[in-house]
Amino acid sequence: MRLHLDKVNQRPSAWPSLPWPSTAPIFTRRAVEIELINTGTELLLGRVLNTHQQWLGQRFADGGYTISRQVTVPDTGPAIRDAVKAALGRAGLVITTGGLGPTSDDITRELIADLLAKSLRRDDTIADHIERFFARRNRPMPRTVLVQAHVPEGAVVFPNENGTAPGLAIELSPNPFRDSGGPAWLLMLPGPPRELRPMVDDQVLPFIKKSLPLKQEFHCRTLRSLGVGESMVEDMLLDQLKPLMDLGLDLGFCARTGQVDIRLCGYGSEMPQLIADAESIIRVAIDKQIYGIDDQSIAEVVVERLIAAGETLAVAESCTGGFLGHHITNVPGASAIFAGGVLTYSNAMKQKLLGVSESTLAEHGAVSKSVAIEMVEGALTVSGADHALSVTGIAGPGGGTPDKPVGTVWLGVASRGGRPLAIRKFHPYDRETFKHATVHQALELLRRRLQKTG
Ligand code: ATP
Ligand code: MG
Repeated sequence: MRLHLDKVNQRPSAWPSLPWPSTAPIFTRRAVEIELINTGTELLLGRVLNTHQQWLGQRFADGGYTISRQVTVPDTGPAIRDAVKAALGRAGLVITTGGLGPTSDDITRELIADLLAKSLRRDDTIADHIERFFARRNRPMPRTVLVQAHVPEGAVVFPNENGTAPGLAIELSPNPFRDSGGPAWLLMLPGPPRELRPMVDDQVLPFIKKSLPLKQEFHCRTLRSLGVGESMVEDMLLDQLKPLMDLGLDLGFCARTGQVDIRLCGYGSEMPQLIADAESIIRVAIDKQIYGIDDQSIAEVVVERLIAAGETLAVAESCTGGFLGHHITNVPGASAIFAGGVLTYSNAMKQKLLGVSESTLAEHGAVSKSVAIEMVEGALTVSGADHALSVTGIAGPGGGTPDKPVGTVWLGVASRGGRPLAIRKFHPYDRETFKHATVHQALELLRRRLQKTG
């Protein structure tokens, strides 16, 4: 079995990271073939990022189902029809996204009903739901929206709790587009992510698990690490994990800047033990660097730890421009622990709001250990919080010197009653990637401190 390493730079959160490369051959051998068709001219024009591909790919893979092919097509009849026909010619489950709304470019439902020679009937329950949806929002209901209450005959309906167009599932048994004639399911899901995601989690995945059960139980666990290079992970772990991989454990690494996720997956009742054995081996080597499990982000882990300890946090940011506070406040419940932050980009603001001294700035420069320490001490004092983090660095592209090249960043951490600490890091990337890497490391600095004291 081959080990796969996948290197991508850390991207802004709305960008997809690359999928796990190591799993497809194993997964598809044991599960139904799944194809995804994302409809939307705006996706092809680059106006909207196709987040469904990443999100659905991950959700399905986490459940033991792998999407084997994906295509994006414009909102035109021939393009959608050809894509659906071709996919049904290969796969046992075809999923379309988008085009279920009431406007003239929303043609998926009608087109598929026509393709499958199914008549559309009005579903009164959906019509009621749509009317109530508008009434609750005190908005007049355009008549055209009731087109969304039309469902192809025999379709399974997934009510849309967050919008008006329901998801639909049609069983083709036999499947007229496949020579073997074997059955297939065609699922149509709405385009807006806030509608599609809860529908998939609450209704679609349970439906698929029931209608297309896996041949063997599936288990998966992802260990998330920070501050350990992927080649180091490979060197340390591969030989030791090889015997478990020979027994069927699928090992996948996904490396982004400064981070390596280690995914341990497999099918069968023996898999929980193999995964536990693999985790023990990995923890012996890099336990300190593993910050979380599965979907946990470093910000979630830090917020949870602080909530559990009943302690608070403040931040003082320069080059991250509020991005550290953004990550912390993205976590539900952050208000229990987050006192707030100061964004001090200029030297004057560092002095005024955080009490950084003029002489320290003159002597060491804004990107220095001393300033990181004074910033973090200032944040602790001004906020009254239990812990503080500070960030000061050179994001570039200009402003670097031989001593302090672009990408240099100092991170400070301080806790009430403890000695402040500052560490130097080097993130010579574009500005956004620089911010991502810096924020993750600042949070990791605090996590390690909390681990020591907790
Ligand atoms: P609506 O009722 O809102 O028209 P719909 O089911 O007809 O929903 P679309 O019209 O295709 O879906 O898309 C609605 C919006 O959903 C798009 O403008 C886009 O912002 C978002 N969207 C659609 N597809 C995707 C996708 N693959 N990834 C991310 N966002 C998407
Ligand atoms: Mg639409």
